[in-house]
Amino acid sequence: MKEKNKIGKLFIVTAPSGAGKTSLVKALVELCPQIKISTSHTTRKPRQGEREGVDYYFVNNDTFEILKNNGEFLENAECHGAKYGTAMTPVEENLRAGKDIILEIDYQGALNVKKVFSDAISLFIVPPSMAVLKERLEGRGQNSNAEIKGRMAAAKEEISHLEKFDYVIINEKFDQALCDLKSVLSDSPESINLETTRQKKFFQSLINSIKSCIKSNQVRLIFFGVLCWM
Ligand code: 5GP
Repeated sequence: MKEKNKIGKLFIVTAPSGAGKTSLVKALVELCPQIKISTSHTTRKPRQGEREGVDYYFVNNDTFEILKNNGEFLENAECHGAKYGTAMTPVEENLRAGKDIILEIDYQGALNVKKVFSDAISLFIVPPSMAVLKERLEGRGQNSNAEIKGRMAAAKEEISHLEKFDYVIINEKFDQALCDLKSVLSDSPESINLETTRQKKFFQSLINSIKSCIKSNQVRLIFFGVLCWM
């Protein structure tokens, strides 16, 4: 018998650039094709191989602003110098039709979606270390050195908001991370181990490494400031 009035579940997946979010979500949808991925609007230019309406709706700044001012977005944010937004209507329609939907968005968007859909389940994917994140960004060959520097700085900022998420997935080994992602989405009993409070001991060293790196930069800046002053 068909379940009546079943509402779909909303998942928010956030990760710093290079943590493997897009590949993980793609692999997940191959395993679970009933899950929908929301297609965002962006003002950034398409990368090679990206398709209109599949990877993103690529729009210019004026169109983005019109959509935003017309209240079409559930959330929108600026990342890496471009604007991104999630249209509200497809999200609502899918949920009403009983379909689960994933939003692949940044931490600002994730926190804003939680204000509208308090039942949404938020997941944060982290790399095992900042050094691995840098290696992955360099290995993709998509970004210049300056862009990589910017993305590493943005990653530090994003990871500092990780404790506001419901689940943390550490993407050290792709297959394990995929299995973890699947267990949260299917609400399996093992997913309890991935709750942010339980994952704390694992990601704390990552956060400490970021803090010590920020501190040493500050020391360098102070030192540089003193030298300039002298
Ligand atoms: P990229 O340009 O590399 O595809 O994405 C850059 C960042 O924008 C990623 O962190 C991605 O999750 C985020 N992003 C993509 N779509 C949206 C969206 O609709 N809203 C928000 N807030 N962030 C988004």
